[in-house]
Amino acid sequence: MTSICPNCGSAEVLLRHQGRKVCSSAGIAAGSAGGAAGAWSGAQTGALLTAWTGPVGITVGSLAGAVFGALAGGAAGGMTGARIGSELDERVLDNRECHACGHTFRVEAIPPKSSL
Ligand SMILES: [Zn+2]
Repeated sequence: MTSICPNCGSAEVLLRHQGRKVCSSAGIAAGSAGGAAGAWSGAQTGALLTAWTGPVGITVGSLAGAVFGALAGGAAGGMTGARIGSELDERVLDNRECHACGHTFRVEAIPPKSSL
């Protein structure tokens, strides 16, 4: 899809993806925080599952559970954030930047064809 800068008429227009970048980072942070909270229950589960192997097993199980909880939370949060950010880019933010003059503007996403 090509866009023309409404300010100077140049065709050298770039996609910005500003919302996606910001929301993706925020999502990873929020997801990791949520994952860290979930990591505690993951650690407990890991410790329970490996309790029969003794103190070493409990430690390894707890660590694995905690790490997995944080990673899973961060990944899920990042994906959710990127999706929200893409929506923001398309619908709310100035999502195009002119390479020639630096002007930023918004291009509406083409709406899906009506089924009527
Ligand atoms: Zn321009």
